[in-house]
Amino acid sequence: MDTDLAALDRAAGFPAGSRVWAAPGRVNLIGDHTDYNDGWCLPLAINRWTLVGGSIAPSNTDYNDGFCLPLAIDRERVVTGRPKSDGRVTVRSRQLAGEVEVAADGHDDPSRVEPPWGRFVAGVVRALAELGREPTGFDGTVTSTVPAGSGLSSSSALSVALTLAIAEAGDFDWDDLREVARAALHAEVLATGVPGGLMDQMCSLFGVADHAVLLDCRSLSITPVALPRSHAVLVVHSGIARTLAGSAYAKRRAACEAAAARIGVAALRDATIDDVADDPIARHVVTENQRVLDFVTALEADDINALGPLLLASHASLRDDYAVSTPELDLLVSLLVEHGAIGARLTGAGFGGCVVALVQRNHADDCAAKVVAAYQEHTGREAHAFAVRAVDGAGPVDPPPGPIR
Ligand code: ADP
Ligand code: MG
Repeated sequence: MDTDLAALDRAAGFPAGSRVWAAPGRVNLIGDHTDYNDGWCLPLAINRWTLVGGSIAPSNTDYNDGFCLPLAIDRERVVTGRPKSDGRVTVRSRQLAGEVEVAADGHDDPSRVEPPWGRFVAGVVRALAELGREPTGFDGTVTSTVPAGSGLSSSSALSVALTLAIAEAGDFDWDDLREVARAALHAEVLATGVPGGLMDQMCSLFGVADHAVLLDCRSLSITPVALPRSHAVLVVHSGIARTLAGSAYAKRRAACEAAAARIGVAALRDATIDDVADDPIARHVVTENQRVLDFVTALEADDINALGPLLLASHASLRDDYAVSTPELDLLVSLLVEHGAIGARLTGAGFGGCVVALVQRNHADDCAAKVVAAYQEHTGREAHAFAVRAVDGAGPVDPPPGPIR
């Protein structure tokens, strides 16, 4: 088991015998706002995890014979002192206040559940009910080291871990793990109303240790691409939570769909650079797809010198054409390059959150410290910098260990 994950599992204090599922956050190296245009992206699953631990709750539906847990002990320890009706899904978060309880048959409207993080729970329950999961109760706890609202996809780590945990508790099998990604995405859309793409859930499920994963968002095929050993992947959080991201995201997505319709293609993946010369939003998507493919070619050829300019071109395109950057993200990119990164770009949807950079490994700590200090000097804000490792995708923590592939 990954040591970070083992430590988190120990710290979580799940009741003895709980079934525990882990899903990683992700950082996208290159290819943002391409996933919902059927394009390409190159994320890596990172060593920041969300864990969901729990057990089947008391219910008058039949227990799953194959679910071998000391159920009585779990129930007593988890629900002591709290009335628990049949057929309910109850989840607590170690990071966020409140307890969420929804009907296991999915009839609660996810968009109305309080507290708001419970909407992801209700979204997962409803998405699974729509797929035919039996309405079995589930009693669980969430804990996470993925910083929320920073573009590292804490929401997808949560929705993927919850989907796996709640599906299993209802004895619901998957033919293909891509269905888990689709269900988790559907849950997030039900929860937030934001029409996201599949990158985050796919990466959280199919991440590969020491690799980024090239995701073709049309075929949903995944190709692991080895990361250079010589360079660290450095993430720097601007200290600004993403705001406006939901409504602006929906607006950009609608603009992409309108552009595809105008050009007469199924999705912007099929547009040429000539088709989009006068449309900055669509131009970002077309040029970004090409940058992803060029980046993969460079990684495969060990052509490190080609990587930095592609990262910087991606950032410029997100800033100037797609208009999703902020002055703070732009500043971080400049500071990173000034202090030795070979390239950097905003990562995720934009409007705050994080930038990602490639930095020579033996220089990464020095670069991070200098960037944090200079950022503080310029903005008075505290940035948070950390190198990440690429890890395997979601799976049960113990037992059986390792990813579910
Ligand atoms: P991102 O996915 O980039 O982190 P989002 O705004 O999409 O940002 O998702 C953040 C939301 O995910 C939080 O506001 C909360 O609702 C939910 N979330 C993340 N981590 C946790 C956690 N540990 N416990 C409960 N909810 C969480
Ligand atoms: Mg999210």
